Amino acid sequence: MKPLIIGDPAMLAHETGDGHPERPDRLRAIEAALAGADVERVGAKPADRAAIERIHPKSYVDAVLALAGQSALIEHDTVVSPGSIDAALLAAGSGIQAVDALIAGRARRAFAMVRPPGHHAEPQRAMGFCLFSNVAIAAAHALEQPGIERVMIIDWDVHHGNGTQEAFYRRGDVFFFSVHQSPNYPGTGPLHETGSGAGAGCTLNAPLPPGLGDATYAALFADILRPAAAAYAPDLVLVSAGFDAHRRDPLAHMQLTEECFATLCAEVVAIAEEHADGRLGLLLEGGYDLVGLSRSVRACVDVLGGATPPARGPGPDAREAAPLSAVKAVAAGLPGMR
Ligand SMILES: [Zn+2]
Repeated sequence: MKPLIIGDPAMLAHETGDGHPERPDRLRAIEAALAGADVERVGAKPADRAAIERIHPKSYVDAVLALAGQSALIEHDTVVSPGSIDAALLAAGSGIQAVDALIAGRARRAFAMVRPPGHHAEPQRAMGFCLFSNVAIAAAHALEQPGIERVMIIDWDVHHGNGTQEAFYRRGDVFFFSVHQSPNYPGTGPLHETGSGAGAGCTLNAPLPPGLGDATYAALFADILRPAAAAYAPDLVLVSAGFDAHRRDPLAHMQLTEECFATLCAEVVAIAEEHADGRLGLLLEGGYDLVGLSRSVRACVDVLGGATPPARGPGPDAREAAPLSAVKAVAAGLPGMR
């Protein structure tokens, strides 16, 4: 079955202004890189209010929707233009469409090419270029469907997915994993935060110092994330797929290659195949170098279509392995891992 690509030109109408890194050209570059890819395509449908209000309170949704057709600065780096609210509704709706296609068996793997991104949007506030928490809305929608009791969200964007963590921190029906550069924006996501209440043990953060690359990420996914996924046994796997850990990215200082993103994508494919009947949905988050972004997305789409990722290179050296051992110790202490 071909990968399903969800997208819509209306998401180009979210205009952020000259010099803003989260710009429409990101989607244009991805579109050009996907030329010739063997995929199914579908346009996006807007999310309805009820779906958004599973994550965001009514007062917040009212405030965002009231900006439709306007230009405004919401906070220092989050702006809207007249087309932004429609784009945000389509971005949230794209994740829901991915979930519906996966659960209905119309697709086995889906990738929603969305903007604005979502993982920094907290239930009660927009931040970090994000208006609605796209992946959290998709996960909450999935949990309303028969047969979906546990969702795993894997966030490989270089920034911590603070909004997603906040949405599910006290819930046991979503396991949230985030690997991110630390220190970096937004400054959240320390190792010791592993969930609370019913969500105790269902959050795992992997904050990594800047400068690390493919070997560290490959080992993290193979040796730490895979066992955590096996212990949790999700019914659906969603990915906050940001590509700003790429070595060319201007907003962070990680050193990943596009080949590494293919490796990471193969790991999440394997997790979905082993535990979730193959159901895997990716939602675009960050990634601000057009070359690094578009090549990495294409590499992932090829893996979703069955391509074999490059052979894993040498394992991490001592400098690269040190931060992993701290993550491994926390992961080993999660309830399901005992
Ligand atoms: Zn990011």
